[in-house]
Amino acid sequence: MSPPRRVGALLVAAGSGERLGAGQPKALVCLGGRPLVVHALERLRAGGITDVVVAAPAAQLAAVRALAGDAVVVAGGATRSASVRAALAALPAGVDVVLVHDAARALAPASLVTRVLAALDGGALAVVPGLAPADTLKQVDDEGRVTATVDRLHVRAVQTPQGFTRAVLERAHAGEPEATDDAALVEALGVPVVVVVGDHEAAKITVARDLAIAELLLRTEPA
Ligand code: C5P
Repeated sequence: MSPPRRVGALLVAAGSGERLGAGQPKALVCLGGRPLVVHALERLRAGGITDVVVAAPAAQLAAVRALAGDAVVVAGGATRSASVRAALAALPAGVDVVLVHDAARALAPASLVTRVLAALDGGALAVVPGLAPADTLKQVDDEGRVTATVDRLHVRAVQTPQGFTRAVLERAHAGEPEATDDAALVEALGVPVVVVVGDHEAAKITVARDLAIAELLLRTEPA
């Protein structure tokens, strides 16, 4: 019989949030009166995760520690991938399954956390939540001319939390590669990545409009 897994999460929250234009790091921007990082942490915990490492902006470590309860808070890096590595380095030794989550996806629900974990329990080494795009997708060249229409059936817009065995995630980050998500680094290893159904509530809050939509979503959530 295999030993029970111990799940941890890396919550990357060290982005500047420039595109949001709030004049402070995005993780500290309030949604429904509470910072985005707090919402994200609450939902990870509601999904059953107790070991959480937060990568925060170096200048905001004290502020994020004051909000993070028993989560470990470390300084993030210059890129998202560097922030993931900083958090991974602080993950307790016994954790063998890891979720990597963007604090900017503050309303990703606990049900999405459990869906990703269920796929890992089923034997997957790497899992991403993804949604089929509603729009028709065009491939373009550098001048913006359409070169092809992409087969929408076989495309997914992927979100976080993404889940990995710790061994795979550590291997993917060896050599300090860069990518916009962790699954891309795992794909580069040739390890299969499984997609589970994502959730519109896990949309990334990037610009002011996204924050306004998140405020509406939060208001319509059951208490
Ligand atoms: O910049 P982007 O929207 O891709 O950021 C996704 C997530 O990565 C955000 O939660 C952001 O805080 C985090 N990030 C980070 N360190 C960076 C850049 C982004 O933790 N240097």
